[in-house]
Amino acid sequence: MAKILILGGGFGGVVAAERLVQELGDKHQITLVSRSRHFVFYPGLVRLAFGKCGREDVSFDLRRTMQRWGVNFIEAEVTRVDPSEHKVTIAQRDVQGQLAYDYLILALGRRLATERVTGFYENAHHLLNVDKALSFGNAIAAFHGGRAIIGECPGARLPVPVYETAFALSRTLAERGERKRARITIVSPDPPGSQLGYVGITVALRKALDAHRIEFLPDFPISRITTGAVMSSKDQTLNFNLLMLVPPFLGPPVASHLGITNEESYINVDSTMRVTGLEGIYSVGDCVNFSGPKMGHMAVRQGEVAATNLTAEITGREPLTEYIHEMRVVIDEGGGDSIYAHKDLWVDEPASVRQSRFWSWAKRVHEKQCEVFDS
Ligand SMILES: Cc1cc2nc3c(=O)[nH]c(=O)nc-3n(C[C@H](O)[C@H](O)[C@H](O)COP(=O)(O)OP(=O)(O)OC[C@H]3O[C@@H](n4cnc5c(N)ncnc54)[C@H](O)[C@@H]3O)c2cc1C
Repeated sequence: MAKILILGGGFGGVVAAERLVQELGDKHQITLVSRSRHFVFYPGLVRLAFGKCGREDVSFDLRRTMQRWGVNFIEAEVTRVDPSEHKVTIAQRDVQGQLAYDYLILALGRRLATERVTGFYENAHHLLNVDKALSFGNAIAAFHGGRAIIGECPGARLPVPVYETAFALSRTLAERGERKRARITIVSPDPPGSQLGYVGITVALRKALDAHRIEFLPDFPISRITTGAVMSSKDQTLNFNLLMLVPPFLGPPVASHLGITNEESYINVDSTMRVTGLEGIYSVGDCVNFSGPKMGHMAVRQGEVAATNLTAEITGREPLTEYIHEMRVVIDEGGGDSIYAHKDLWVDEPASVRQSRFWSWAKRVHEKQCEVFDS
């Protein structure tokens, strides 16, 4: 019986666990470790902040789901990975323990490197956890005019909630009869739409932003924030009354001393999702060193590929299934300007882009994903 250890209970880890159970049944021991027993459906957090759904719609109890699937669940912090000994150290409050493994999947997501922007922690709202999304919701309720700045810090690699927040804010203010009192500006460290900057997406986004009178300010690498102002490293300053930013991302600290990461601590993997240079270890999700934005559907596909290849290894076959790095993005504008774009990020071809109300509905259907896992 092989001991398979999955570190991280997000999209990548949970889907890998599900696929392993489907493929291996109960013949092997599968354990998932995560610092929280709650799975968070991040794409729902913009709607949560705007009061369009509740806390229960964007999270479910991992322990219960894992128990149902026959996967051991341990709620603990992973503090160390030791590939030479095949051991992982975990901590539950003050108590430390070690878990042995034969095969390992690293699915630890991103680290929020808020320390890279002075004043971020004290002065900026963000949407990177449920409580912060609710706290931003309170700030939206109290905002009746002035300047709203929404944006990404350098290294953020998550443009979708920035655009969705700007659209949702514009609609909310219009519903309250307050839209004319507010100026909404999106700031980006990059050229216009560059993270989604493939032919077609930029044009569709620009059209939707113009329709909502949302300004786009590119080339604004935020470096410092005070109580009412954001500053860029190029000496530009913008005053704000409401601020929501995606902070800089880095890879997980646990992996950064293992010699398997790039300079931003993202884990190097090949297209079968195996960690480069280590036997029996896979990595999936936001923590891997792939180009472009970090997205949940990528983590899901990577989790499936890793689990399929791991199953092959365990059952004595070659792990040959390959991941294709595609971006499938839905930017919910709330109506007819919602955008769907598909782009193979490893191929130099334009994105295919569609724009209609359908994509707004389609995105909400995805929220039901939580219920599927939870039922
Ligand atoms: C507001 C918002 C909106 C988004 N919208 C979209 C969208 O529309 N479409 C889309 O495709 N993607 C979207 N994303 C991105 C998507 O949510 C992420 O790409 C996805 O969550 C990545 O999955 P993951 O499993 O790699 O990481 P995560 O979901 O972050 O999971 C990582 C897990 O590891 C655990 N963990 C980390 N470190 C440790 C440790 N040391 N010890 C124990 N446990 C640990 C965490 O608790 C967590 O359970 C959005 C993200 C946000 C924040």
